[in-house]
Amino acid sequence: MYRKKSKPELKEVPLKIIVPIKQVPESSNVKMDPETGTVIRAGIETVVNPLDLYALEAALRLKEQYGGTITALSMGPPQAMRVLKEAVSMGCDDAVLVSDRKFSGADTHATSYTLAQAVKAIGAFDAVITGERATDGDTAQVGPGIAAWLGLPIATYVSKIDAFKDGRIQLERLVEEGYQLLSVPVPCLISVVKAVATPRLPTLEGKIRSMNLQIPAYNTENLDLNAEYLGLKGSPTKVVKIETPKITRNGKIVQITDDLSLSAAVDELMDLLDKKGVLP
Ligand SMILES: Cc1cc2nc3c(=O)[nH]c(=O)nc-3n(C[C@H](O)[C@H](O)[C@H](O)COP(=O)(O)OP(=O)(O)OC[C@H]3O[C@@H](n4cnc5c(N)ncnc54)[C@H](O)[C@@H]3O)c2cc1C
Repeated sequence: MYRKKSKPELKEVPLKIIVPIKQVPESSNVKMDPETGTVIRAGIETVVNPLDLYALEAALRLKEQYGGTITALSMGPPQAMRVLKEAVSMGCDDAVLVSDRKFSGADTHATSYTLAQAVKAIGAFDAVITGERATDGDTAQVGPGIAAWLGLPIATYVSKIDAFKDGRIQLERLVEEGYQLLSVPVPCLISVVKAVATPRLPTLEGKIRSMNLQIPAYNTENLDLNAEYLGLKGSPTKVVKIETPKITRNGKIVQITDDLSLSAAVDELMDLLDKKGVLP
């Protein structure tokens, strides 16, 4: 007999989720300015950090299960508005851009401080869900940094979000030899890995909504900020020098023309590897 699936019970107070999304260069071949030690962004197309799409998908699934709203949050230049619009076209309810010249040159300490202050300004929330890491900076420090600034419990490398119950989120966290089952009280910060869910595509309805949505911008005028923690000046990490290692291979070419030279070549190569100490 066909039975209509019953809808999951919605939580009395809907979940409020914030998803920080970074705008990154489309190419994985990111170049650094050797003089300033910063990323060369001129002339590079930018996209949503691919790993943040998994965070967004995890948030959307929680919202579908328990009800609530999702706010996408990005710190970057005005062009970062584009990645926020994309997040809205995928199902985010609203978005906030954090942008000010005084934020430029921020390291992960300054970035996570500024984002944490923006999270506070957004208001009460249940969870901040971040990607595992950004494909350009690649430190995976910003999520834990936001949690530290806000004094939130944190679960990193989350591969599955099971349920939200009694003010706690039940989840699975990847560890080297398996996974841990955790029950984390809200509000909390979660950073997810790809296994958490496959990101959906934007919808036409979402695209139309994103075109019409007014996205507020937070800056040094309307955020409560300590100027000492902002931008390059507030960044304890200093890039001393950046260089691309030169790879010089002292190659040896062994020519093979017939069976005899094949066997001689194998002997020669084995001898070479033995001399280099590569063979057991
Ligand atoms: C000395 C120094 C100078 C730097 N100068 C510059 C500079 O001039 N210009 C510049 O663009 N970068 C600069 N950077 C890089 C910048 O600090 C990092 O890109 C940034 O702090 C984020 O770190 P990450 O890319 O390692 O993110 P990760 O920690 O790997 O990201 C983890 C997760 O945090 C969230 N997240 C990270 N960054 C953001 C963001 N901006 N908005 C929303 N969510 C985010 C995402 O969910 C992401 O998946 C500098 C870094 C250093 C160390």
